[in-house]
Amino acid sequence: DLTLAVDIGGTKFAVGLVEPDGRVVAAERAATPQGADAETLWRTLTGVLDRLDVPDAIAGVGVGCGGPMTWPEGEVSPLNMGGWRGFPLRGRLAGRFPGVPVRIHNDAICLAVAEHWRGAGRGSAAMLGMVVSTGVGGGLILGGRLIDGGTGNAGHIGHVVVDPEGPPCGCGGYGCLEAIARGPGLAAWALAQGWSPKAEVTRDGLYQEEGTATARRLAADAAAGDPIALAAMTRAGRALGIAIASAVNLCDLDLVTVGGGLSQAGDLLFGPLEEALREHTRMGFAERVRVVPASLGQEAGLVGAAALVIAGDS
Ligand code: ADP
Ligand code: ZN
Repeated sequence: DLTLAVDIGGTKFAVGLVEPDGRVVAAERAATPQGADAETLWRTLTGVLDRLDVPDAIAGVGVGCGGPMTWPEGEVSPLNMGGWRGFPLRGRLAGRFPGVPVRIHNDAICLAVAEHWRGAGRGSAAMLGMVVSTGVGGGLILGGRLIDGGTGNAGHIGHVVVDPEGPPCGCGGYGCLEAIARGPGLAAWALAQGWSPKAEVTRDGLYQEEGTATARRLAADAAAGDPIALAAMTRAGRALGIAIASAVNLCDLDLVTVGGGLSQAGDLLFGPLEEALREHTRMGFAERVRVVPASLGQEAGLVGAAALVIAGDS
């Protein structure tokens, strides 16, 4: 049977039907209504599900959603969807699709599971799947299995501290990887250093941008040789490398996949990342780790959500 996959993000809701082998055979999406109340958000989801034409017999429902959430119960409180604070998303979906498993996880964890199941992490026994975008997150696979952690948040590398003297983070701490390497944080640092955006970059309609001074623009300016933009990319890349080194040393990883908008900056980010990583893993088992771009792109969220049901990962 097909599995229904649901991917809830701050900019879009995506739903799809996924074959047991991970192929997405049908998909629909809708823009997330901004500032909407709980029932309006739910109607948006049921509307997009109606368009998908879900068959009567499905293997189950897999859901990826921005955190935080209670897990595995699946009462969600996505940070940029005020109307869904404490919303029983898993329960509501279970009511609509009775008799089949409904599993939910943090969206970053779903991306990691997707890369492990069908992407750049295939066959890896010990990997961290990272996403570097508006936030920084990740999921951890050890012994070939997804690690949930006590509250479903294992692998959340975004709040690993890379500089105790660093900038304040949305979590209330200081110097977290996310505070330094998230797209908007990167752009803010560059602006504070006197960067003025030069590159013309077309906007991708579905994605919310953080004003005109975006990380995407910063990457384009860095590619054109702007020294402040280059320094900003280097700073973020090094922070990523330092955090990854700690994760590798802690978990004996053989692979790290890096996805999300920032990963599209390529060598501008991966160069300094590798350099910092190698400085901190010079000897011993950690030397062998490989860091590669995520390979699944747009469909990864749906593939990972489906994997919660199909690949049997929690
Ligand atoms: P979301 O955070 O909504 O999941 P993305 O994964 O696209 O979306 O991440 C958005 C962030 O990635 C923004 O900060 C954006 O400026 C940045 N970004 C998008 N494309 C690029 C690029 N080619 N190079 C560097 N940064 C990029
Ligand atoms: Zn933090």
